[in-house]
Amino acid sequence: MASLRDKTLLMAISIHRSFLLFLAGASLLLLLSACGAQPARPDYVLVIHGGAGTILPDRITPEQAEAYHAALAAALATGEAVLAEGGSALDAVEATLRLLEDDSLFNAGRGAVLTAEGRAELDASFMDGRDRQAGAVAGVTNLRHPIRAARMVMEKSPHVMMAGRGAEVFAIEAGLDTVPNAYFVTARRRQQWRRSQPDSSGQKHGTVGCLALDRAGNLAAGTSTGGMSNKRYGRVGDSPIIGAGTYADNATCAVSCTGHGEYFIRHVVAYNVAARMAYAGQSLTEAAEAVIHQELVAAGGDGGLIALDRQGNIAMPFNTPGMYRGYVRAGEPAFTALFGEE
Ligand code: ASP
Repeated sequence: MASLRDKTLLMAISIHRSFLLFLAGASLLLLLSACGAQPARPDYVLVIHGGAGTILPDRITPEQAEAYHAALAAALATGEAVLAEGGSALDAVEATLRLLEDDSLFNAGRGAVLTAEGRAELDASFMDGRDRQAGAVAGVTNLRHPIRAARMVMEKSPHVMMAGRGAEVFAIEAGLDTVPNAYFVTARRRQQWRRSQPDSSGQKHGTVGCLALDRAGNLAAGTSTGGMSNKRYGRVGDSPIIGAGTYADNATCAVSCTGHGEYFIRHVVAYNVAARMAYAGQSLTEAAEAVIHQELVAAGGDGGLIALDRQGNIAMPFNTPGMYRGYVRAGEPAFTALFGEE
């Protein structure tokens, strides 16, 4: 049996050991923070928006709000399934946006807002953060998935942007599905269009956008829209313009915008966020908020954006009452929101 003296000695040794372990742990933490070590980046991240605008709790029924939450959650689940299986950020963005283009709740693909002539003219763009390859289509009227067409321009042509009939001929040759223009026109949009005539300055948003960070650490971004309602003369907004409505560069961030396109073009919003990070050393959140809440507010431009960097940081600022939005990070439950302060 151990004597009292032995017991005291053993206790002292174990206290000493714990103290040494504590010291080692504390110094490791200190060392990590001194090196500016970041928390480990998540395995993958997917961020989406479904447009910014006058989205207020009293303008939407609980059933409608539920339908939007469900649609956003379904889109997140679609993109997450691609990323969880080790798929690329490009594939996740395309799969997510195709689903949103088919969903008539949003102003993209089926359910797009109508031009002054009462038809759908769609714009979309796509960008790969690995090498700044990019593709876009503008003013297409018969392609079921404009986002797929934008990706085809990026991958199967030497160009970045194609417009109108030429873009459609190219996409058909690349094997894309076509639909009659009436496929995009829903009863809700037709009604909205009738009500808004002859006023030609409609401000209906609802564009869809998606950003992904995949397991390999690569970023991608895509945006798809019907543009502004009652648009005329072949008007093209920011959504298909690389650097204005969409941007992705592994060195900085991926961005997709929604809002009054003319302002987003003038302020080169998507690239503006990336440039602030690269040249002014701003964080993703600082850069995104400065553009939306300072630059655009001062200019009178309404809208919002989603942004994602390689560490998995997310920013989703908007200067409108609401923005349909959501994200999912590996191992965490998905988040969706419609209004401000959620
Ligand atoms: N930015 C789009 C455009 O101006 C519209 C929107 O986001 O709702 O075409």
